[in-house]
Amino acid sequence: MEYRRLGKSGLQVSALSLGSWLTFGQQISDKTADELMGIAYDAGVNFFDNAEGYAEGKSEEVMGKILKSRKWERESFVVSSKVFFGTENKGPNRVGLSRKHVIEACNAALKRLQVDYLDLYFCHRPDKNTPIEETVWAMNTLLQQGKILYWGTSEWSASEIMEAIGVAKQYNLIGPTMEQPQYNLLERNKMENEYLLLFKEYGLGTTIWSPLASGLLSGKYTSGITKDTRLELKGMEWLKDAVLNEEKLKKAEKLQGLADELNIPLAKLSLAWCLKNPNVSTVILGASKTAQLKENLTTLEVFPLLTEEVLTSIEEIMQTKPHL
Ligand code: NDP
Repeated sequence: MEYRRLGKSGLQVSALSLGSWLTFGQQISDKTADELMGIAYDAGVNFFDNAEGYAEGKSEEVMGKILKSRKWERESFVVSSKVFFGTENKGPNRVGLSRKHVIEACNAALKRLQVDYLDLYFCHRPDKNTPIEETVWAMNTLLQQGKILYWGTSEWSASEIMEAIGVAKQYNLIGPTMEQPQYNLLERNKMENEYLLLFKEYGLGTTIWSPLASGLLSGKYTSGITKDTRLELKGMEWLKDAVLNEEKLKKAEKLQGLADELNIPLAKLSLAWCLKNPNVSTVILGASKTAQLKENLTTLEVFPLLTEEVLTSIEEIMQTKPHL
């Protein structure tokens, strides 16, 4: 496994990490979740991603039980949570980024995950109803209490992140260390355009999500079969519509041709492509089956196959490079 610095911070995260969205506490059994974490940890994965909103808090409960039963040394893993969406009991002060919810959500996540501190704590979305200053102070309170070690954002705009950095500077506080954006061959603007200054000037780290665009970039949907996938989950109709898009499917089919020429699974080509970007600190993998995770964890093997020529062919197929 390769380890990368989380931006300019001193924390090292495995280039491939494991997330639990839609899977833990929802799509898969607790036994499969345990197997997935075991396989990942044994392969050198040291970062496990979670959020209060995943399966309404159940994802953290499942992960907490696994961390406890596996008895891994606390120093050997990095675990995250995210605040914003709340859990099943929604209410005006049970969501968002107010000081009240940030502090209460952190305490609740610590209980569900059964840990004394979170290594990473993310603001899961920007909150238009809370001044950024209030959230920066709340995160710094948690830092001072030792309940979190690094804080960051997810799907914030560059200007919102800049504002948080500015507030932190103004009061001598600690600003965001990392952002968690979507990044894959179909979704590139934030990582390759909008955030460039934040990487260069502020050393922002990134923990990127949906590297396979929910499985589309593994090539599995080109035949149209969706059985036994996340697209069949209740409430995921919006995702099904987004993934089974004619234009995207055509591109995935062409990419599959390229992967076939290279004699590698398309999932590994798509994941390796994400890792090629030096501003990616870690690629968060998702998996509902152990075979998927085992395949994805060998991605670094195909890294040398991504020559300039192959990268050019990918660009020709995708046509998704942002115009700078
Ligand atoms: P991906 O885009 O990689 O999708 C993972 C899914 O694709 C798997 O669960 C599986 O779905 C399918 N899959 C994975 N590997 C293969 C393979 N080799 N062959 C065929 N199918 C495969 O990542 P996620 O969308 O799961 O995101 C990863 C993590 O990022 C999440 O767990 C979460 O921690 C984080 N995240 C953060 C968000 C944020 O707002 N901050 C939003 C979304 C995710 P299936 O069961 O359908 O087969």
